[in-house]
Amino acid sequence: MLDPSSESAADIEAMRDIAQGANEGRAMEERTVLWIGGFYSQCGACGRNADPYEKSHDNATMQGEGCGATYTHTASKDLGIDAIALHNMRPDLPVRS
Ligand SMILES: [Zn+2]
Repeated sequence: MLDPSSESAADIEAMRDIAQGANEGRAMEERTVLWIGGFYSQCGACGRNADPYEKSHDNATMQGEGCGATYTHTASKDLGIDAIALHNMRPDLPVRS
């Protein structure tokens, strides 16, 4: 005869495994800000130099390694670059206010 308490414990364990799998999936596709500056751009996830026209931090066309994080929005620390400039540069990404 099944013990109902051990059965629910197994269910909880199964749900925990599913939740951990989802967390790993998110970690593999990290989402971050693309910092766009007047002279250089920067990945928000790893802080390294970034190609401002890439969809994710791959640095395919540049020297240096990218971390693979996907850019979900743009921002700038440079006062000379406003939201309109950011939007013109990357119309596919929303600007973080
Ligand atoms: Zn990066």
